[in-house]
This record gives sequence, structure tokens and C-alpha cells, in this order.
Amino acid sequence: MRVSENDRPHWDVIVIGGGPAASTIGSLLARDGYSVILLERDIHPRDHVGESLTPSTNLIFERIGFQEKMEDAGFVHKPGAAWTSPRAPLGTFFSIRLAEFAMPGAKQPYTYNIERDEFDTLLLRHAHDQGAKVLEGVNVQRVLFDGERAVGVRVRVVEGWEQDLFAKVVVDASGRRCLLANQLGLRKKDPRFKQYSIYSWFRGVEPNPLGFEGVAWFYFLGLERAWAWSLPLRDGKSSIGVVTTKEDFQKSGRTHEEFFASLVNLNRSFRYVMRGAERIRPWWIEADYSYKVDTLHGPGWLLIGDALRFVDPIFSTGVDIAMFSAAFAHQAIAAVLTGDDDEERAFKGYESHVSDGIETWYRLIDLFYTHPHMLSRYAASLQHREDVIRTLQGNLYLAESLERAQRVIGTMELAHHLVMADPDNLLRPGAIEPALNGPDELPTGSDDGWRLGYTGPAEVVVRDAEGVSSSRSEN
Ligand SMILES: Cc1cc2nc3c(=O)[nH]c(=O)nc-3n(C[C@H](O)[C@H](O)[C@H](O)COP(=O)(O)OP(=O)(O)OC[C@H]3O[C@@H](n4cnc5c(N)ncnc54)[C@H](O)[C@@H]3O)c2cc1C
Repeated sequence: MRVSENDRPHWDVIVIGGGPAASTIGSLLARDGYSVILLERDIHPRDHVGESLTPSTNLIFERIGFQEKMEDAGFVHKPGAAWTSPRAPLGTFFSIRLAEFAMPGAKQPYTYNIERDEFDTLLLRHAHDQGAKVLEGVNVQRVLFDGERAVGVRVRVVEGWEQDLFAKVVVDASGRRCLLANQLGLRKKDPRFKQYSIYSWFRGVEPNPLGFEGVAWFYFLGLERAWAWSLPLRDGKSSIGVVTTKEDFQKSGRTHEEFFASLVNLNRSFRYVMRGAERIRPWWIEADYSYKVDTLHGPGWLLIGDALRFVDPIFSTGVDIAMFSAAFAHQAIAAVLTGDDDEERAFKGYESHVSDGIETWYRLIDLFYTHPHMLSRYAASLQHREDVIRTLQGNLYLAESLERAQRVIGTMELAHHLVMADPDNLLRPGAIEPALNGPDELPTGSDDGWRLGYTGPAEVVVRDAEGVSSSRSEN
């Protein structure tokens, strides 16, 4: 298409979407005085998966002036995370706390578990309060190009009522819908992660042990690439979800209810906390959600948040990536609009900055699925605990945090190779706890209630990356 005189850009920036990525960049651009419009297909509040935050997001809340609204909303404070293996005696788990190694610039020793319908609504309203124009119920059909350059979008408000809007820059924050990447044929399914997730909200879940209130709990299920989350939400609700391979679900031939129940049974502690739980919402299913996009920018356009890549939710990184990619995209766009930088260079810089951080998350996730115990062993190690905790705090886009994460992941990868090269090594996956045969195999042991406050293995026998064996008491 050619842009006529009448179609001159009306906006500095058009943002497709109204999730955390869109609201963050909308707030930042509006605070700088740019004219920015957010086009959201749904009418908020709308439900969404992704209810556990990393502490790094606090830095963005501060930056866009949203922190006070987070506190006022009364979301559950999340001071850390804990995880437990399928056959571990009740009350035996690993835990890490954010306060152990405070994040630089952190004003509080916790992050949040959030109900996304309310969180996303508050954040979108905040973008509006900062001066962004927000339209809901507006479905973006496609991005408009003049030659190679993105110049605007075509929106549909109701069937048959379409309108073209024009801007100097178009930002796609349409989440896993990946509007622009799909339009340009840039989205590639991840060949390794074909996950399936089923989740809902429950009441009557056994509360976390005393002293662990608000902690996000993860249960490993003894099947390949399978785990569950339990997040305490407000008013005694809990978000409970399981993640497994899509193949496991398809092979099972079961209903969602039956399949979920069979997975709950796989972890003794999970079975215990769920024994009196009652589901209070319909099931929510997500499948095949991991993918990569070949390039994150082009003339007049940028991708942010899930629209640029999705890498599996095990470390609760989605909103971190959404908000930090939005913040870096804002930086690049502002540099272009003020004339301080050339567009191609600024957008390229954005791409490499954000890709490096996300690629590092991907390495950690890949290692975790290949060798789940490795992370626990490093989290328990006095030498590496700080690096592990700081990595899991998020924001792997700063040189210092990126370098630290790459260092500790590199050490764990090396340790993994050494362990796997030794057939007698007890750290090999399955050496101590053989994998379960399927969702029907119950772990045995008594369900005699939580024991309190145990945060790691009493004895850890490890062989270091350097091949040195040691045995020590950790807690
Ligand atoms: C099983 C699972 C568990 C997860 N758990 C976590 C977790 O614990 N913590 C975490 O941080 N993340 C988690 N995530 C990831 C998290 O959900 C996302 O990373 C996060 O929501 C990304 O934000 P976003 O703004 O990029 O996209 P979204 O939040 O998806 O927002 C995109 C918005 O764009 C709108 N949109 C789409 N198409 C159009 C269109 N054509 N026109 C107009 N608007 C459109 C949508 O309606 C939506 O509101 C999880 C994901 C999965 C699959």
C-alpha cells in the first residue's frame, strides 16, 4: 500500500495488545509525552495464565509509578519459592528466599502472586492514567506496510466496521497470538518443548507450612518434563496447575479431571495438600506454547513480550520478559523519535539485548528439564547459592546479572556432562529415584502431615564440575 497525505501518522506509536508488555511500554512512552495508543482485543478484566511474579518486576513497577497500586490491591506477597520431589517425606523440600540476597535497588523482600484478571486491568488502567490512549474490544486484523516499512494497523471493532490507524512505530504486544510474527511467517514452534498445561483455582488446599506463607510451591511428578505449581492467592484461593508433555495427555485417553487427579497422585506432598481441595473455576488448558521468532524488529516495527518468544513457564519468567522487553523497546523507540539514534541501529541493539537475556533463560530451562536435580544441588551449595538465587530473581538483561547467570548455568552444564559421563554417579537423573512408569504409579509412604521448616537436604553428596567429591550438611 502507499500512504496518502490523509493517512499521515496520527500516533507516535501504536501498541497491539493490552497485557503487561503493552501496558508497560504504553506507560513509559506516555510518561515521556509521546502519543501512544493501545489496542486490546478483549474487554478487561479478562482471565489469563501467569500468576507468579519474579522480584525483578518490582523494579519496573517503581519505574512506571505502579508500585503503590500493587500494594493497595493487596496481592499475596511471595517471599520465595519451594520445591519437592515425588517421594520426598512430607515436609521435606528445598526453599529459597529472595531476602537472602537482596536485589540491587530492591525496596522489599518479596514479589507477588497475582490474579491476572485484576493485575492486567490495573496495569492497563495505569497506562491510561499516564496518558496513553487505551481502546478495548478492538481486534487488530493486521499490520499495514508501505513497502518494507510498517506504517499502521487495520482494526475491527465489530463485524464489517474496520478502520486503519497510522503511526511512526508499530509495537506488537499481542502475546502468544504473535500477530505480526505470524503475518510475516517468522514464528517457529520449539521442537523440544511440546508442553501441555491444565490449571484452575481451588479452595481448601492445605496451607503452606508456618513461616512459608505466600511461597510459590512446585511439585515434581517423576515423569519426564512434568511438574505442578501451587500459588496461594487472596481470600484463601490457590492457583494449581500441572505441566506435562502433550504426548502424556494424549496417550492417557482420560478426561481433564481424571488426568489432573492422576498427576496429583504422583507426588506425595502434592497429594497431601490437595486431599480436601475443591475446584472453583473451569479448567484452563494451554498446549504447545513454546516457540521462537526469527527476528524481533524491522523498519517501523518491534515485537515485545510473548509476541517475541515463549520459553516455558517453569521459572515464572513470562511477565519479567514482557516488562523488561517493553522497557528496552521504549528506550530504543525514544532514541529514534528524539533523533538521537538511527532506527536500524537502535532496534538491532534492542534485539540483541533482549535475545541474550531470553536465550539465557532458555538454557536454564533446558538444563532444568534435562537434569532437574542439578539446580537443587547448586541451590544447596554454599558456593553457588547466591548465583542461583540472583539468577532466579530475574532481569537477565543487565550485563552483571547476565554474566552471573551465564557463569552459573555454564558450571551446571559442565557438571551435568561430568555426571552423565560416569555411569555410577548417583546424581544421574533416576539413579536414586527411578522414573515412574506413568500417571498410575503412586509413590508410597505415610501422609502424616507437614513437618516444619526443613529447607534442604541434610546431607549433600556432590561431585563438582572439577570432579571433586564432597559431603556436607547444608542446613
Ligand atoms: C502454563 C503457563 C504458566 C505460566 N505461568 C507464568 C508465571 O507463573 N509467571 C509469569 O510471569 N508468566 C507465566 N506465564 C507466561 C505469561 O502468561 C506471559 O508471559 C505474559 O502474560 C506475557 O505478557 P504479554 O503482555 O506479552 O502477553 P499477554 O499477557 O498474553 O497479553 C497480550 C494481549 O494482547 C491481546 N491481543 C491478542 N491478539 C490481539 C489482536 N489481534 N488485537 C488486539 N489485541 C490482541 C490479548 O487479548 C492480550 O490481552 C505462563 C504461561 C503459561 C502458558
